[in-house]
Amino acid sequence: MTGQPGDHLRTPPPAWDLLQDKILVHTRTGNGVRADLAQMGQTHDGLTLCGTDAIQTARSFHGHNPGELLQLVDPAAYEEYATCEEPFRPDLIRQSGQLSFLDDEDGSSLQGLLDVQLGNGVAAALTPTRYIKAGKRAIITAAVDAAGELEAERTILTVPLDHGWLRSDDDVDWLSGELGRLPHIKAITLGSIYNPLKLKGMATALSRLIGGLERAALIRTDLAGLDAYARGAVFASIGMQTPLRHVRTPGAPPPKNRTHRAVTTTVLHPQLLRYFNADTLEILYGDTDPPRCECSECQGASLTRFQHENRAHQEAANRHNIATWLPWAQELQRAAPGQARLAAWQEICWNAVEAHRRLREKLSAPGELEVPQWLSEWIQEPGQDLPAH
Ligand SMILES: [Zn+2]
Repeated sequence: MTGQPGDHLRTPPPAWDLLQDKILVHTRTGNGVRADLAQMGQTHDGLTLCGTDAIQTARSFHGHNPGELLQLVDPAAYEEYATCEEPFRPDLIRQSGQLSFLDDEDGSSLQGLLDVQLGNGVAAALTPTRYIKAGKRAIITAAVDAAGELEAERTILTVPLDHGWLRSDDDVDWLSGELGRLPHIKAITLGSIYNPLKLKGMATALSRLIGGLERAALIRTDLAGLDAYARGAVFASIGMQTPLRHVRTPGAPPPKNRTHRAVTTTVLHPQLLRYFNADTLEILYGDTDPPRCECSECQGASLTRFQHENRAHQEAANRHNIATWLPWAQELQRAAPGQARLAAWQEICWNAVEAHRRLREKLSAPGELEVPQWLSEWIQEPGQDLPAH
């Protein structure tokens, strides 16, 4: 194929250069959540969009700010299990009714789905990989083989792993070797019914997998994204809404909801480095003075002011959450990659462990303040025995 003069000037840099050192916000775009996202892009590094109008939103942002807002689109194909024959789900955009003017070829082939993403202003296209059950090595191999045919510089292999993959060192080592065959970025996301990092050893194994893999990323995650980045991930994408902080096992019952509430507000505690439900936080502080939050959203307001079942409060809490982790991300970005960055992250984690101890002494609900399993593991040196929690 003969290019036009100047084509080389328009060729975008490879995905691993565009996304290097970025900590993105993973967010759903439907149901009015679109508001303020573009403006927020001026403070954080960019967005991973998912939801029914992700493609249209990407196109709209790109149209208004070409080249300014770094974006990815998550096809979120992990509601079905992958098989060796069908590791991907390429017809997703057509099924969700997006861009209905596509002809069948564009809307139903794997390359078509990637092209639709690339044609609408994303930095690189994420593969629509289905959910991969623990230990199903042949499916990983099938996905890697298929991804090997796709342009490495513009395609990211999404790897939705059931957390059971992390139970065995042998599986983690095998995954490292198999995924490592690809020059592409490998965007791992972890699946479970509940928060997968609550289980002993999961955070350690995830750190090991990310740390041992060239061009890894961790997406649709929580603060584990910062841990991954500190251990060498190219980029991370941290969920803005609670369901976007891990992948749910296909067919799993919906999360228990004590009063069938439509809205639940989660609040990132700036000292404890963990998310709380707003009502839990209120109970935790009881009659004691609630902490003031100094983030750019709260500007000294009380951390317990967010109401649990209030949509406006939920959105404000989401903005507080981002404003709270953003300075941690920036601190890691300023640190030199390797040992210095990991040390900076572990210091943040150590401070949170200390904050748990101080608050346990001060508050009337000490049972709420066990140091979470994942936080205990993030502060461990590689090779150290896990704490007995
Ligand atoms: Zn705040």
